[in-house]
Amino acid sequence: MGFEDNIRKIDPYIPGEQPKKKVIKLNTNECPYPPSPEVIRALREADWERLRLYPEPACDTLVDALADHYGLRREQVFAGVGSDDVLSMCFLTFFAGDRPILFPEITYSFYDVWAKVYGIPFETIELNEDLTLDPSGFKKPNGGVVIANPNAPTGVAESREVIEGIIEYNKDSVVIVDEAYIDFGGESVLPLIDRYPNLIVTRTMSKSRALAGMRIGYCFGDERLIKYLNDVKYSVNSYTMNMPALIAGAAAIRDTEYFRQTIEKIKKTREWTKERLREMGFTFNDSRTNFIFAKVPKGCNAKEIFEGLRSMGIYVRYFDKPKINDRMRISVGTDDEMNFLIGALKKLTRT
Ligand code: PMP
Repeated sequence: MGFEDNIRKIDPYIPGEQPKKKVIKLNTNECPYPPSPEVIRALREADWERLRLYPEPACDTLVDALADHYGLRREQVFAGVGSDDVLSMCFLTFFAGDRPILFPEITYSFYDVWAKVYGIPFETIELNEDLTLDPSGFKKPNGGVVIANPNAPTGVAESREVIEGIIEYNKDSVVIVDEAYIDFGGESVLPLIDRYPNLIVTRTMSKSRALAGMRIGYCFGDERLIKYLNDVKYSVNSYTMNMPALIAGAAAIRDTEYFRQTIEKIKKTREWTKERLREMGFTFNDSRTNFIFAKVPKGCNAKEIFEGLRSMGIYVRYFDKPKINDRMRISVGTDDEMNFLIGALKKLTRT
């Protein structure tokens, strides 16, 4: 017996690379545009001497701004250090039973890592052949349900009806709907939170609000669920979010016009890129996110193209996993970046 026997050992989630050198970075679904100028202004005008104090434990500045923006009560809102922190707290809080929790076999690869690290039993549900969700898989006894909608890395968005059917069936479980990419398309289930006390909707400021570097995430749910979540949070770390993040998040959520313009630009570039990829023989589901999960043309090898792009200074994401190892996940960058990508792909696929 040695100390090694008492150590929790886990295969961690592997984040996309953050290269130091200058590359075209289309591998972690960040926003290609800067955050709102209001964010920069709020940070510049902040009273930095206050950094000597602990930040607000209840994240009031941000929670109040979010409640106000979404027309909710502050008791229905929880904020954390990116939606990874929020989701991790949700797993710890809501999935303490013995029955397995359910999530799709191809989805955000952090879900099974949290389940393993917290000792939560889980079962993955097969997607349909075309990578859409099979709702019937989620209609059996379980200890909880997690669904990313739109899903990642597939980019597929399911209708509100499909997701509501799953929430409705699972009244005895907490159902988490991870809406990290909802601002780029798809139908949110947020309007349903007053109707379903078992529903949690998570969001992030890392993508559509261009604040990945600040780490800001949040979720909405019934007051009771949010209280349970806060009880667990205060049992782990009371001061999760730092002062600059609270200020930046509140300023970002208020600037609706800048947000609208950013989303429009990204969607426009996404649709342009889809057209070019289609012309070259790539195929993909109708992505509703800020990335495209593209299957390489017949006769091409996805891993080779991924490596070819990398050697040309273009970073995309490749998952060496069954069912999806013939695809690449390409984040939507600026028009110039996507132009450059298309040129490189033409060379690599010889089209
Ligand atoms: N959910 C999904 C589906 C994601 O793709 C990501 C981004 N990696 C996250 C949650 C976490 O995002 P963040 O922690 O930056 O809010």
